[in-house]
Amino acid sequence: MGADNYRAKNIKDSDWTIASSEKYYGLKNWGKGHFKIDEEGFLKVHPLKDSNGIRIFDIIQEAKSKGYDLPLTIRIQDLLQTRVKELNETFRDAIEQEAYSGSYRGVFPIKVNQMREVLEEILEAGEAYNYGLECGSKPELMIALAHHKNLNSLIVCNGYKDDAFIRLALYGNRIGKSVFLVVEQLSEIQRIIRISKELAIQPKIGFRIKLSTVGEGKWARSSGEEAKFGLTSPEIVDAAESLKEAGLADCLELIHFHIGSQVPNIQTIKRATVEATRYYCELAAMGFPMKYLDVGGGLGVDYDGSMSNFESSMNYTLKEYARDVIYNIQAICSEAAVACPDIISESGRSVVASHSILVSEVCDRISKNSIAPKVRKENQAPIIENFISILENDYHGAPLERYHDAVQKKEEADNLFNLGYLNLKDKGLADAIFWKICQDVVLFYQEEKIQPEEMDVLKAMMADQYVCNFSVFQSLIDHWACDQLFPIAPIHRLNERPTVNTTLVDITCDSEGRIASFVDSEDERSLLRLHEIKKEESYFLGFFLMGAYQDIMGDLHNLFGRVNEVHVFLEDDEEDGFYIEDSIPGFSVNEVLKLTQYDGQILSRKLKKQIDRATKEDLIKPREGTRILDEYLQILKSQTYLNESN
Ligand SMILES: *Cc1c(COP(=O)(O)O)cnc(C)c1O
Repeated sequence: MGADNYRAKNIKDSDWTIASSEKYYGLKNWGKGHFKIDEEGFLKVHPLKDSNGIRIFDIIQEAKSKGYDLPLTIRIQDLLQTRVKELNETFRDAIEQEAYSGSYRGVFPIKVNQMREVLEEILEAGEAYNYGLECGSKPELMIALAHHKNLNSLIVCNGYKDDAFIRLALYGNRIGKSVFLVVEQLSEIQRIIRISKELAIQPKIGFRIKLSTVGEGKWARSSGEEAKFGLTSPEIVDAAESLKEAGLADCLELIHFHIGSQVPNIQTIKRATVEATRYYCELAAMGFPMKYLDVGGGLGVDYDGSMSNFESSMNYTLKEYARDVIYNIQAICSEAAVACPDIISESGRSVVASHSILVSEVCDRISKNSIAPKVRKENQAPIIENFISILENDYHGAPLERYHDAVQKKEEADNLFNLGYLNLKDKGLADAIFWKICQDVVLFYQEEKIQPEEMDVLKAMMADQYVCNFSVFQSLIDHWACDQLFPIAPIHRLNERPTVNTTLVDITCDSEGRIASFVDSEDERSLLRLHEIKKEESYFLGFFLMGAYQDIMGDLHNLFGRVNEVHVFLEDDEEDGFYIEDSIPGFSVNEVLKLTQYDGQILSRKLKKQIDRATKEDLIKPREGTRILDEYLQILKSQTYLNESN
């Protein structure tokens, strides 16, 4: 009984439906209604939940026709708008429901995605809600001051500040904006007092509180008494007194906290809100004109769709978050008989994660089964005969029994080879048969409900590596740096059963450039099931929820540069329901070389000298030399990733 018999018994391809794919890749869980499969098995993005949706496959074709090849970042601009609206309207609705007396004054933290087109889209979508900006550095404040136009929306400045930073913020106030300087360090107080006196500009001041509530999740060090940010309670008392002495008591209107990004557990948020509101009420009671409570970031994204307090997930919804923040502030304020503040949140991840999709092509497959064993019966070494007998199962062994027998023989074969009793050809045959048997056994158990424990190891050993044309370090840095999970799924063929157990590897020369943990609604998966790749057809993988942090933090490991990018808008009049408004070419080889102090021109001059020498020495003809140099120049202008079309 061979592998095919096993398959026929257990698996019928017709049993696999689009719903099976939806379930396996978790689309309903992490997709939140924005990612669905159409009847032909294509993955569609639905920027508005009830809109028609756009085939990601079509976007790739359109981008290619404009000369933008994979890997490709696709920004769904309408999805960005949807998220901004959702955040603001959820808070607005919750405020109404709870009969809360303040309002919501959200700001977008620029560090989560600084790309201009992203920022512009967010500001436009947020205009109606007076949605503002948060900055954590001088360059980010430079962006904010220039792009922020709505004078009813806020700018909040966090992070370490030098004189120039503070002056910039004060200039903002001078031209009619509300720019808050949030004091992170005690030393900043004196600096702000001095500079505002020098410039005779009244500052707007907030205090960042170092809460004793410690966050949970990967970025928990943003709060708690060990955090590098914020003022402790004695420092707050001291800073408040300094302001009074300087005659700037009127300027303190805001307190701020940030318990870290991607907070998986709502209880943390509730505790932090309660603690911060206590500070708010105390400062109000001390006579400061308190007006705003800034609850920072931390609103999560459910990357694995499990709705749990697992690190890559969250156990609450946006609605619950808004309601809990509002409810707790209200409860504490009314106890203290202090008027409720306007609420600011600095939710970044939750606003931008979903709008960005990375698509890469699987360009190769590393498989133990790449060479099928060529079995001849006669004149074989005894060990090979043993293997053939297990392969053909002439003794009617159970799958697991055959596997155990094969493992024993594999050990024997390895020993024989090392001692010189087995030649390379036979060793090749023995290994090929061994892997074939293992594959049979894996296939047998593929669809079985109960799996022997050994299957985990065996499956991992037999999994194929799909080589994807991209760099984990450039495009998926948080997966490498902090084991963050992102949903990954093919963007077509989703009406076919995926039959290959895979892990993914990138094209960098770094063994860390791999993905071997995948989202699952129950646990984490170590393998991702994908389709057989076909010679004549490209196989595209989508990496989802990529819009937060990944865009800017990627690095140039192996000098793989930024990838091509297209910005997609919904358009009912277009045949495929969308158009590409903007396309941004990825880095050329020349551009990444410049970032490491090389100069394409100097490099080609240096190479030319060596070609001239080789020509003089008659190693090559002059015409061949010219051709080599031309191609070198051509490649300087091209992109850094694999390009199969030339
Ligand atoms: C990073 C950061 C944010 C954004 O946090 P998200 O979890 O992405 O919403 C907000 N505020 C401050 C101070 C930050 O440092």
